[in-house]
Amino acid sequence: MNQTLQHWIDGKAVSSPATMDVFDPSTGQVIAQCPKGGAATVEQAVRAAERAFPAWSQLPHSERARWLDKLAQALADRVDDFALAECRNGGKPLALARTAEIPRALQNLRFFAAAATQFASESHHGEAGLNYTLRSPLGVVGCISPWNLPLYLFTWKIAPALAAGNCVVAKPSEVTPLTASMLGALAAEIGFPHGVLNIVQGTGHDVGEPLVDHPSVKAISFTGSTAVGRRIAERCGHALKKVSLELGGKNPTLILADADVDAALPTLVRSLFQNSGQICLCGARVLIHRSRYDEVRDRLVAAANDLAVGDPQDPTTRMGPVVSAAHHKKVLACIERARDEGGRVLCGGEALYPDGPCAGGWFIAPTLIEGLATPCATLQEEIFGPVATLQAFDDEAEALDLANGTPYGLAASIWTRNLDSGHRLAAGLRCGIVWINTWLMRDLRTPFGGTGHSGIGREGGFEAMRFFTEPKNVCIHIGVPH
Ligand code: NAD
Repeated sequence: MNQTLQHWIDGKAVSSPATMDVFDPSTGQVIAQCPKGGAATVEQAVRAAERAFPAWSQLPHSERARWLDKLAQALADRVDDFALAECRNGGKPLALARTAEIPRALQNLRFFAAAATQFASESHHGEAGLNYTLRSPLGVVGCISPWNLPLYLFTWKIAPALAAGNCVVAKPSEVTPLTASMLGALAAEIGFPHGVLNIVQGTGHDVGEPLVDHPSVKAISFTGSTAVGRRIAERCGHALKKVSLELGGKNPTLILADADVDAALPTLVRSLFQNSGQICLCGARVLIHRSRYDEVRDRLVAAANDLAVGDPQDPTTRMGPVVSAAHHKKVLACIERARDEGGRVLCGGEALYPDGPCAGGWFIAPTLIEGLATPCATLQEEIFGPVATLQAFDDEAEALDLANGTPYGLAASIWTRNLDSGHRLAAGLRCGIVWINTWLMRDLRTPFGGTGHSGIGREGGFEAMRFFTEPKNVCIHIGVPH
């Protein structure tokens, strides 16, 4: 039987008269019904959050930390249920959800529980007296998250917001609402203080926009596409509302002449195709030193052809489907456009229809394309699927030109045995995150985010705690002794 999802407002399950179908992308079948909220749902959630704010913001930090830890523990006790839900709703391999994504959601809650007790403000002592900074929570804040890493990114936002003393109205993606609804139920089950964490379900238009526009919502933390981020920035700009934007990427992977490709290959393949390439940090533009181009290309093609694509619940599967029928169509259209732009498809390039229960799923074969020139749309626009392009470069200057040659600026990886080259290129790359000889290795204390069309602001560690607080400087005159 299909699951029935809920909004979670003021500690209680709330439904809506209208509902939306939720799909399993590996079968194309409906697996749940999700309430389709609207402005009235947002209003109800914001009112609950406003009522809860005085008590939550005045709780000792250690008490807020205790609640976040308690929620983390409840999630830890249900990791298998949440991993299966994430696998079924997002199409990601069960092992990936079980060993990486749900554990990371747990870690987000625990990390920011600790941050609640470790966050400190500055003081400046000097000619202008003694200054100290008070940091207060903002009030009610809105958190809007995408479908690609549903619970991982949902908790990455709500945890710092709550740790800093805010009350939250959070909106998961309407494409993957399952685990957020389950987290709401878990919070209610452990008696999480009512109104502190409210979860509203619905589309960006029906729920996201009223949340962004609500005058009592003091800040919006958004992760999603560049187009929607721009729209949210305009509305927040008009209202002079604080906003953090984590947007799309078109990330370069730089493979230098001296790269240890034997050691790098498994990570390189993950950086192109993990979660079917639907991670904002995937390195979808592979730039290879000309002296190694043929060798690296052939090894990547062989590895892509070897990837086991199919049923995400099968433990041998390395890559599942893309998330929705609409996204499937979009990614296939991008591959056609690449062909029209003169690209040579080296592998993949088509939909896959596995035998058995997944025959109706939205699968695409891992695809590598070469032969494109920089100004084309394929090399400039995010595809967000299992599709990567290969280009050759002759020297560091050309590598940097190609790497920096899009309006995005999220992440990059550099593969080299020469750390001088690695550091030089890292300094020259226009982006927020650089990995050298690794990919997606994360220390949660570090600043996370991008520049240009990849967003404004940083998440992670105290950056997130600073975003969710308002600084106030207090200056004290220190008198001269008489
Ligand atoms: P999306 O922009 O379509 O939707 C993201 C969220 O915004 C969803 O919850 C959606 O309902 C909501 N939304 C849509 N329109 C809205 C509006 N007008 N007002 C308010 N909310 C609205 O993105 P998506 O397709 O869910 O996610 C994929 C995108 O997210 C990719 O571009 C990817 O690169 C990006 N992403 C970025 C990061 C990062 O950290 N930089 C991480 C993950 C994903």
